[in-house]
Amino acid sequence: MAKIYYDRDADLATILSKQIAIIGYGSQGHAHALNLRDSGCNVLVGLPEISRSRQRAEQDGWHVLLPAEAASHADIIMLLVPDQHQHQVYEQDIKMHLTAGKMLLTAHGFSLHYAQITPPTNVDVAMVAPNGPGAILRQVFTEGKGIPALWTVYQDFTGHAEALTVAYARALGCTRAGIIQTTLAEETETDLFAEQVVLCGGLTALIRTAFETLVEAGYQPEIAYTCCLQEVKLIADLLYRGGINFMHNSISDTAEFGDYMTGPRIIDSHTRTQMRAALKDIQDGTFARAWILEKQAGFPTLHTMRQRDAQHPIEAVGEHLRQMLP
Ligand code: NAD
Ligand code: MG
Repeated sequence: MAKIYYDRDADLATILSKQIAIIGYGSQGHAHALNLRDSGCNVLVGLPEISRSRQRAEQDGWHVLLPAEAASHADIIMLLVPDQHQHQVYEQDIKMHLTAGKMLLTAHGFSLHYAQITPPTNVDVAMVAPNGPGAILRQVFTEGKGIPALWTVYQDFTGHAEALTVAYARALGCTRAGIIQTTLAEETETDLFAEQVVLCGGLTALIRTAFETLVEAGYQPEIAYTCCLQEVKLIADLLYRGGINFMHNSISDTAEFGDYMTGPRIIDSHTRTQMRAALKDIQDGTFARAWILEKQAGFPTLHTMRQRDAQHPIEAVGEHLRQMLP
């Protein structure tokens, strides 16, 4: 079983004397900065001069520094810029200020695991990855609760890396819910796998293919959209609340019987083989390499796919239908 830490396992005092720099003020950045400040930590926010997040940070009461300035003053540097920009920000603004005994933190393992960031050996390096978007991380904190997080120490130079990492998670409010120890490889690979196979890639491909099948057979697109896309939320809510068995108990017997009969025809041994292949591409760095090269080339595939998908009939149908919703 996984090792889970709660408030009682984390000493907040270890982090209160440290200077923390939050680099980036987007989804995660704003939530980390505000939760840490409310927990009594010393926080600096670092953003480029031209960042669109500057205004939001200033409205939240921050005197915003440049990333390199914030990093130079900090004992702990949390890098919360998008993963595909972390290499550049690290090289330009962080590296020279990541001096002996300091700590580098990330909220996702991608850059460290795939060697886009290679910190020196005389610093602490760790990850605290909250299990949810920043808006929820902040909202739940203000209600006196927390969301879970994954954490790992990648490099412990000072001998205090674990205590500091866990204290950081406590200041975020995450130990109120429980934090699970992992490794960079496990967090990165399972996160990529889940978003590619289930949450994003798998789900959108399933919905779009089902929509096309119904429309091709002569059914009205609005009906196809409602039953194959909108109702996903009802089922997802049941799954979130109680798992698969609970969902099965909450739907009709007809729906449950159809699940048993047809589910395995759709997700069959071919799909399983493809899942294993997708996992292998993640594990051996094939996917990471494609994504890193994609950024270097100026995101040609990303832009093309976005355009292609925006023109799919399902989008126009959805836009029309959503106007009818309350
Ligand atoms: P985001 O896109 O919401 O915010 C990024 C921030 O970085 C913005 O403030 C942006 O202005 C700033 N930024 C962009 N380029 C920059 C640059 N070159 N230099 C300095 N600042 C720059 O990103 P996010 O979703 O908060 O993701 C940050 C990290 O958190 C990532 O590692 C991500 O994997 C991780 N994470 C995200 C979530 C989530 O649900 N959003 C959950 C867990 C972990
Ligand atoms: Mg994720």
